[in-house]
Amino acid sequence: MKILIAEDSTLYRMMIQSVVEELGHEYLLASDGQEAWEVFQEFGADVIISDWIMPRLDGPSLCRRVRAHGGGRYTYFILLTSREEKEDFLAGMQAGADDYLTKPLDRDNLEVRLIAASRVTSLHQQLSDRNAEMERLNGALFDSARTDPLTQLGNRLRQWEDLEVLQGRVARYGHSYCVALCDIDHFKAYNDQYGHLAGDRALRVVAQVLAGQGRSGDAAYRYGGEEFLLILPEQSLEMAMVGVNRVRLAVEDLAIPHAANEPFGVVTLSAGIAAFRPDDGPGSDALLARVDAALYCAKRAGRNQVSIHEPALEPAR
Ligand code: GH3
Ligand code: MG
Ligand code: MG
Ligand code: MG
Repeated sequence: MKILIAEDSTLYRMMIQSVVEELGHEYLLASDGQEAWEVFQEFGADVIISDWIMPRLDGPSLCRRVRAHGGGRYTYFILLTSREEKEDFLAGMQAGADDYLTKPLDRDNLEVRLIAASRVTSLHQQLSDRNAEMERLNGALFDSARTDPLTQLGNRLRQWEDLEVLQGRVARYGHSYCVALCDIDHFKAYNDQYGHLAGDRALRVVAQVLAGQGRSGDAAYRYGGEEFLLILPEQSLEMAMVGVNRVRLAVEDLAIPHAANEPFGVVTLSAGIAAFRPDDGPGSDALLARVDAALYCAKRAGRNQVSIHEPALEPAR
């Protein structure tokens, strides 16, 4: 353990130091409470053995500071008291001390206290390690619940959460955004001809293009099956059109053979784009319905193209 010895009497400091050294512990020395506080802040300690009465800062005040400091590890605090100070020991414990030693110093007594200290600090360490591991696992679980395992894109849950955040910003700051719904053309036929494993590979590659082509701030999600949603914050329909067309071309440029996808002969995608409208009301349902209608237009117009949603083109309901 790392033990900080705070004692203004040189004699006592040396006595404690020699026992601590003999027991194989690391130690730091301070000749009053204030110095101990500074050493503690810089180097930390598993145990502090502190005299009660010291210049500048006494033992209980040092203890209160150490407790208020918090930090990751637990510091076991042992107050060193003379017989008279022992009367006040309750106050010392209330200041946050764990144990006390009386003067004159008894070597075996100190060893016993340090065994207890080692037990308590190692328990605290185990607990805090376990907490850190739990936090790490929680974070990993949080991410994996929001990640599509095939493509590593965000899934519907992440998409939904991100849209909620964006909607909030739209409501608060009047920001706007577009979404694009991209759908691989004749993908059922691709699976039929090349097999599902090849289909999965194609989905992964297309997903990479979608994730990599956008501006920073754009995000791609696997909406489901062979459909992907792009969220394009702060973009007009015209800007979105340019960006999504670039993505469409990048997918075509992959040149993944797809014989049934006439007349292109390679894997392509169609996309619809729609912009958020202030009269959409809460949630993103109206926007998603428009982008779906826009995608339908792109499909109907021959695939491998991008359509903007125009109210006039909305299919009758
Ligand atoms: P369209 O051009 O009209 O979009 O035709 P399409 O064949 O792509 O559309 P459809 O909705 O009929 O078929 C989608 C296909 O996508 C059906 C399904 O087998 C395939 N698909 C969906 N998810 C996956 C997946 O995770 N892996 C593979 N390999 N195929 C998938
Ligand atoms: Mg003293
Ligand atoms: Mg589809
Ligand atoms: Mg499709």
